[in-house]
Amino acid sequence: MSIIQGRLHEWEVVIGLEVHAQLTSQTKLFSATPTFFGAPPNSQVSFIDAGFPGMLPVLNQDCVHKAIKTGLALKAKINLSSVFERKNYFYQDLPQGYQISQNEYPIVGAGQVSITLKDGHQKNIRITRLHLEQDAGKSIHDQSPTKTYVDLNRSGVALMEIVSEPDMRSAEEASLYIKKLRSILRYLQTCDGNMDQGSMRCDVNLSVRPIGQALGTRCEIKNVNSIKFVGQAIDYEARRQIELLEEGEKIIQETRLFDPQQGITRSMRSKEDAHDYRYFPDPDLFSLEIDSNTVVQIEKSLPELPDDKLKRFVDVLGLTPYDASVLIAEQEVAHYFEEAIDGLKPTKVVHWVTGPLFAFLKKQNLSITQSPISAIHLNQLIKLIEEDTISGRIAKDVFEEMTLTGKNPIDIVKEKGWQQLDNTQEVVTIICDILKENQDKVADYKAGKEKLFGFFVGQIMKKTQGKANPKLVNDLLKDALK
Ligand code: ADP
Ligand code: MG
Repeated sequence: MSIIQGRLHEWEVVIGLEVHAQLTSQTKLFSATPTFFGAPPNSQVSFIDAGFPGMLPVLNQDCVHKAIKTGLALKAKINLSSVFERKNYFYQDLPQGYQISQNEYPIVGAGQVSITLKDGHQKNIRITRLHLEQDAGKSIHDQSPTKTYVDLNRSGVALMEIVSEPDMRSAEEASLYIKKLRSILRYLQTCDGNMDQGSMRCDVNLSVRPIGQALGTRCEIKNVNSIKFVGQAIDYEARRQIELLEEGEKIIQETRLFDPQQGITRSMRSKEDAHDYRYFPDPDLFSLEIDSNTVVQIEKSLPELPDDKLKRFVDVLGLTPYDASVLIAEQEVAHYFEEAIDGLKPTKVVHWVTGPLFAFLKKQNLSITQSPISAIHLNQLIKLIEEDTISGRIAKDVFEEMTLTGKNPIDIVKEKGWQQLDNTQEVVTIICDILKENQDKVADYKAGKEKLFGFFVGQIMKKTQGKANPKLVNDLLKDALK
């Protein structure tokens, strides 16, 4: 828990998040219109999405199943009966004049997400609910000095709104929560989690209180679209509220916007309450009834989730919790790792994946699925080292050659003649040559300058282009110098 020292009190920050996650559905929540990202404005709009009178919404079953799947992964209660309601308000990018959402009876009830704090402790963040709703269109204010344009491509796109309890106490915890949630959604493939494309957006609710007191009045910061901005918005807003309260003023519950340029939050409108929206059940839709058998089927289709994978990587593969957390954050990385450890000690593989491979991918801005080194090739490379076919030093060259050519390491080593020199006779000959060429140093060594041993090893390695088996060199050199 992070505490902020004010002039008068020690303050605790209280945060609850509402995350809007766009479902990975091919079509919208109530129409068969496609949902490709980046399509030309207003090219993905049907009569339903444009709010024409007399159109009837038809519920997309894929969205329902994905909401259930997500609910199960959040260890939440699935409500077999739920209701779609109209949330009424006027806005130029909302042609229907209402959003179809779920209010009193959401499809998913209470659940939880666990986060791992810096000190290694686990903390549970309670989920209040998850419901399905339509997205609105988009107003474009920056293309004309006098006009606002409206793009309805997003109108009617299916969103899951995931609401947390006010369980977070710092920007750090909020960021861990969003990352964990995003990781789960990506494992499930129910949302792509791309915040920069708007498929995951976050409303930050924040209040402050002197330690130990009842919850304070909160403000809601709308539509924050990156984890970094969530952190900045929290830090700014917490300080703003503390300053006001210490001046003896009151916090007014309101909706605010985060301004990334200035790093501040600004008042947008006073907070509306549920009754302002005149929610009522949509008369065009039946209540949503789910067969318990469907839930059982969906539960069976759940992949191994991040927490379970982490536990298995620690308990079964013997990784440290830190290494495991790095490797499971993305499902594709975990999958690559598991392919690469075949027949090897997993801890031997960790270094190669999180070290040289990650460094290379990061430098080239590639994802693991675009890696020129396949998991099988990396596995072969590590086996070549383990079997003493190549030395650790040569392995670095092989690795680099693999990144350039995409070839398998066995062929590279053969073509380049990089096999380790294991032939005792050959190594002895080279040692004799080196010692002959450096008779003065041999004399110094024998007179007690033992540091020179390293010099001889260096010369031998140079002559063999690093291919001599280091252990063999060590043993033979010691004999030769006796
Ligand atoms: P609304 O529907 O008006 O947005 P909710 O009760 O659904 O209100 O709460 C929305 C979010 O605000 C939730 O994430 C909840 O955890 C959070 N929240 C509620 N009270 C507080 C508070 N006092 N301080 C911080 N967050 C809060
Ligand atoms: Mg809300």
